[in-house]
Amino acid sequence: MNAITETPRKRIVIVGGGLAGLSAAEALADAYPDQFQIRILEAKQTVGGRAGSFTDPATGESIDYCQHVAMGCCANLISLLDRRGLGGQLHRYRELLFLHPDHPPSRFAPSRWLPAPFHLVGALASLRFLTLRQRRQIHRAMLKLFRTSNESLVGQTAHQWLQSAGQESATIREFWDVILVSALGENPRVVSMAVARKVFVDGFAGSVGASDVLVPRQPLADLFGRELRQAIESMGVSVATQTAVKQLRSDPKVAIQTQHGEVIPADHVVVAVPWHATKGLLSPELVPDAPAFAAIPSSPISGLHLWFDRQFTDQQHAVMVGTISQWMFRQPWEKESDQDQSCYYQIVISASQQARQMKKTELVQSVVAEICHAFPAARNAKLLRSRIVTDPLSVFSVRPEVEALRPAAQTQLPWLHLAGDWIETGWPATMEGAVLSGRMAASSVLNREGLATIKCEDGLPRGRIARHLIR
Ligand SMILES: Cc1cc2nc3c(=O)[nH]c(=O)nc-3n(C[C@H](O)[C@H](O)[C@H](O)COP(=O)(O)OP(=O)(O)OC[C@H]3O[C@@H](n4cnc5c(N)ncnc54)[C@H](O)[C@@H]3O)c2cc1C
Repeated sequence: MNAITETPRKRIVIVGGGLAGLSAAEALADAYPDQFQIRILEAKQTVGGRAGSFTDPATGESIDYCQHVAMGCCANLISLLDRRGLGGQLHRYRELLFLHPDHPPSRFAPSRWLPAPFHLVGALASLRFLTLRQRRQIHRAMLKLFRTSNESLVGQTAHQWLQSAGQESATIREFWDVILVSALGENPRVVSMAVARKVFVDGFAGSVGASDVLVPRQPLADLFGRELRQAIESMGVSVATQTAVKQLRSDPKVAIQTQHGEVIPADHVVVAVPWHATKGLLSPELVPDAPAFAAIPSSPISGLHLWFDRQFTDQQHAVMVGTISQWMFRQPWEKESDQDQSCYYQIVISASQQARQMKKTELVQSVVAEICHAFPAARNAKLLRSRIVTDPLSVFSVRPEVEALRPAAQTQLPWLHLAGDWIETGWPATMEGAVLSGRMAASSVLNREGLATIKCEDGLPRGRIARHLIR
């Protein structure tokens, strides 16, 4: 009788359990069930990385470090959640409320019927804080942007291009900056116009529904840290938390050494940690460009968490223009007790370098004054408590010079692959960029294994690995 010989399953170790690492594991397990032994090693107590939550000591509730929103164009994030049965966990809003301290509120509702980019014309006309002259400037610049290739924008900052496209300072400040600061997490004076174009053309104006705003229906720690993790574990992926990786070895065989001293052999390693955390892991001998991308500059985002004694608006969220506050969010899920009338709000300030110079009490007072101006009913509400959470390393700063430093998923070593929102995806630091990077890393592994690579969910411009490998 012939002995049945089974080919041993290839061992894939993913370092980092943020969205990039989770996405890489899911993509591999989904494309080739039972073919790989996949293990995620995460340094923290939970997976989800920057898209996570803290526990409010006063109530025990999970509160997101910072409210995360996605857009209708985030095809890879949306389809990951759909595949894992979590598609219903993002609430889709087709309309945005813009509040300006000196003008009446504006509802921005792109047409569902007109083709892109004409679906935005009526919505732009409804922005009452912009003059007719400003709106005309914006239309002209948008059309120009549609006709401009990404390649021709390389090396330019958003402000340089906008000025050359005839945008006056007030138009830049009151329209372009509002969109770009929250989408790119950095001051448009320094951000790359090529990435800004991606946000406008692909993200905002490229198709009907692309500019829809998607807000998680539950805290990120529940959505990604628990439910997505469980869904991926049920595919046979093993997840070890509180397991920081200290070192990657390749001599004589590829292996990972953890903080606990455990040595884990691997056939492939996907490094899915943030750019600044690659420093101790990727030596120049392994990846010659590692010192350059580990030094990519960062930009802070601040979340002001405010608990009031009552609800003062039905509005779930609003974009705030001309104020320190940039976005207001109201707690999107139901409270557990009917007796508790208090209401939680969050104010998000991206590229918060200036806000961080202010004293905490001064910042909270200024923001509360802005809220009271925008929502008169808030004048009768009492602020019960507040907390400011700022991550100075929130996102990488998408400057023109940084674009050249972002590496492909595939490295020169057949066993080593990179993932993370900061690799060459064409996206700014976003959940979509992180999920796409995970799929690119999965494709890189499959390519090295001689297997058919996987599909990405849209026709957007992609990085080197994607252009060559993703069918
Ligand atoms: C304040 C803030 C607001 C944001 N708002 C939005 C938003 O509204 N919309 C949006 O789309 N995006 C937003 N983002 C960006 C988004 O959170 C990130 O782009 C995305 O989560 C990055 O995922 P990642 O997997 O690439 O990296 P991370 O989430 O950073 O995951 C990397 C993981 O690697 C782990 N790790 C590091 N070193 C090691 C090691 N040695 N061993 C093992 N594990 C290690 C880390 O603990 C972490 O869990 C925001 C980010 C911040 C900080």
